[in-house]
Amino acid sequence: QILSATSPKPNSALTVARAYSVDTTPIRATLFPGDGIGPEIAESVKKVFTEADVHIDWDEHYVGTEIDPRTQSFLTWESLESVRQNKIGLKGPMATPIGKGHRSLNLTLRKELNLYANVRPCYSLPGYKTRYDNVDLVTIRENTEGEYSGLEHQVVRGVVESLKIITRQASLRVAEYAFHYAKAHGRERVSAIHKANIMQKTDGLFLKCCREVAEKYPEIKYEEVVIDNCCMMLVKNPALFDVLVMPNLYGDIISDLCAGLIGGLGLTPSCNIGEGGIALAEAVHGSAPDIAGKNMANPTALLLSAVTMLRHLELHDKADRIQDAILKTIAEGKYRTADLGGSSTTTDFTKAICDHL
Ligand code: NAD
Repeated sequence: QILSATSPKPNSALTVARAYSVDTTPIRATLFPGDGIGPEIAESVKKVFTEADVHIDWDEHYVGTEIDPRTQSFLTWESLESVRQNKIGLKGPMATPIGKGHRSLNLTLRKELNLYANVRPCYSLPGYKTRYDNVDLVTIRENTEGEYSGLEHQVVRGVVESLKIITRQASLRVAEYAFHYAKAHGRERVSAIHKANIMQKTDGLFLKCCREVAEKYPEIKYEEVVIDNCCMMLVKNPALFDVLVMPNLYGDIISDLCAGLIGGLGLTPSCNIGEGGIALAEAVHGSAPDIAGKNMANPTALLLSAVTMLRHLELHDKADRIQDAILKTIAEGKYRTADLGGSSTTTDFTKAICDHL
C-alpha cells in the first residue's frame, strides 16, 4: 500500500530511464537548498544519500540576492540552465514576501521550466498514529496557471482585480498526466476537483478537458467532486479518494489539508514534472521561518521528495532502501522531531535514519 503511492510499475512511461552505472558513475542533479530550514534539511538528504551509497554529483545553486537581468528574477540564468541540462533536481523551500515585493521564485521556476504537474503523494505512515490509518492518495496539481498567473492589478482605488487563467492545453496536459499516472501506478480512480458551479467558464473548461481524457482511459473510474464537498469528504473519510487532479490553487490548499491527515507538513513530498522529462522534487512545505536555524526541522518531506527523484530515475532499489529506513525510524518512535511530538534534532533524526539503512 505504501509503495503504491510512490513506486511506478517497471518501465512506466512516466519515468526517465538513464543509461549509467549507478554504483560507479555519480548522477548529476541540481540542488536548490532554498531558504529558512531548506539548507538544514538539504544537508540531511546529502548525508542519507551518502550513507546509502547513492552517488549524486549535486550541482548546487543558491537563490541570488540580486535580480538577474536575464531572468528578471532572483533566480539566476545558471540555476535554470542547470535544471534544463540535468533534467533532474531537488529543491528546498523558497520564501516569498506576503502581499508585496518580488515575484515568487517558485512561480518563476514553474513557469520558466514549464513544470506543468505537481504530484503530491500522501499516505499514512505505519506506526505514526493520527485519526486515520488508511490515507493513500495522490494530489496532482496543475502547476502553471489558474490564480497563479500573476495577473493582478488595481482597477480603481479600492478595487483590485486578479485574473484566473485556464487553458485547454494546460488542462488536457495535467489531466492526461493524472490518468497516465493512475494507470501506471495501478490506481483505480481519478477525481477531478472543481468549483464549476460558480466558476462556470474556467473550472467548466478544466472539467471538460478531464472528461475528454477520461474517455481514453475506460479502465480508470472517473468522478467530479466540488471542492468544498471534497474538503468535507477528505476530513471524514480520506479513503474515499485515490488520485485527485485539480487546478493550481485548489491543489495548493488540498495538499496541505492532506498533509494534516497524516501528521503534518514535515511528512509530505512532491515532484514537479516538466516538459522534456524534467523532474524537480520538493517538499510540500515552505521555509518554516519559525523554526529555521534551530536544528528542529523534520527532513522527512524533503527526503521522501528525494526518493521520488530516485524513482524518476528508475533507481527503485535505492529508493526503497532509503524510504524503508525513514519509515522504520518514524515507526520505531525513539527518534522523532518536535512536529511529530518527539524531541530529536534534525541531526539526530537524520543519524537514526542512517543507522536504519
Ligand atoms: P510553512 O510550510 O513554511 O510552515 C507552516 C508550519 O509548518 C510552520 O509552523 C512550520 O514550522 C511547520 N513546518 C513546515 N515544514 C516543516 C518541517 N519540515 N518540519 C517541521 N515543521 C515544519 O508555511 P508558511 O509559514 O506559510 O510559509 C513560510 C514561507 O515559505 C513563505 O515565504 C511562503 O511563501 C514559503 N513557501 C514556499 C513553498 C515552496 O517553496 N514550495 C511552499 C509553501 C510556502
